[in-house]
Amino acid sequence: MNKPYNFNAGPAGLPLEVLLQARDELLDFRGTGLSVTEISHRSKQYEEINFETQQLLQELLDVPSGYEVLFLQGGASTQFAMVPINFLTDGRVAGYIHSGTWSGKAIAEAGKVGKIVIAASSEADRYKKVPEVQGVSFRSGMAYVHLTSNETIAGIQYRDFPDTGDIPLIADMSSDILSRTFEVSNFALIYAGAQKNMGPSGVTVIIIRRDLLDGIPDNIPDILNYRIHAKNRSLFHTPPVFSVYMVNLVLKWIRNNGGVEGMERRNRLKADLVYGAIDDSGGFFGGLADRNSRSMMNVTFRVYNDEQEKLFLRQAELNGFVGLKGHRDAGHLRASLYNAVTYEQCKALADFMRHFQQSFG
Ligand code: PMP
Repeated sequence: MNKPYNFNAGPAGLPLEVLLQARDELLDFRGTGLSVTEISHRSKQYEEINFETQQLLQELLDVPSGYEVLFLQGGASTQFAMVPINFLTDGRVAGYIHSGTWSGKAIAEAGKVGKIVIAASSEADRYKKVPEVQGVSFRSGMAYVHLTSNETIAGIQYRDFPDTGDIPLIADMSSDILSRTFEVSNFALIYAGAQKNMGPSGVTVIIIRRDLLDGIPDNIPDILNYRIHAKNRSLFHTPPVFSVYMVNLVLKWIRNNGGVEGMERRNRLKADLVYGAIDDSGGFFGGLADRNSRSMMNVTFRVYNDEQEKLFLRQAELNGFVGLKGHRDAGHLRASLYNAVTYEQCKALADFMRHFQQSFG
């Protein structure tokens, strides 16, 4: 089978080993004679998947003991609403860091629920870099501060996170969770859709500090209440069984391939290859993000003129590269280099870029 070089932004490529195992187990899940999609979520087998997957995440991300790991549905977009519904209560104010399209969506949803302030923004820089947060003093008494660790569309990523002191820091890590090490204890809540670094779409991972659960009001719908999901260990209602199963396989694959540190080492080399092809091109290719904010996950770039860029996309497709067209909000080109994208695939892309420049530049 000739698999394309997959640079899709999400849903994104999955490790081949994981797909093969899922194929092998699809009709008979570990001797049950049934597919994993056909067994009860109350069964011993599914409970095992659920708890094992939670443990794997705790292990891989070194999650301290005072945190819960939850598997919810509705994508990261539901988290844009759930975060303020649970925590923007009693007339309090939340601080949002505005770094691009996805934080903008989180801000819009929170604004429907309560009062927010923009604590930092890179709008004036047209989101080519992440807003400066070192040294920003956050108003005490804020309900929380929210940021997006990696803006998937603009291709910008935080290296260091702000110190918000006693104010709970909440992060959307949808497009870079498990791609690099970080201290979970600096955050009160982390959320991430699975479909980039963890598995297929359909499940969203939440890592939440347990003490936050106590203050959640009782009068919000149960399905949107983190405390209810934590109390039921993510089995409050029918979970996305197949997606959690796939996340389980991907996490084992990460564990077998050097853990998060191994992913980070490889991701740096992969990003260096593609940014290298941009930087060595003498202006034929141009990166869209400021150098200091460049994302290791989403490389956004352009070809110096629109006609050449269209030709680049056509030629790329003919040569087996998929997913290189940028998001409609940012335009141009984007190569997403999530964990499952191999070094060899990135090398092939960098070589193709150099070859294209030699032929058409
Ligand atoms: N946040 C970020 C950073 C994203 O990249 C995305 C999806 N691309 C979302 C949120 C929205 O996720 P979902 O489509 O799962 O709701």
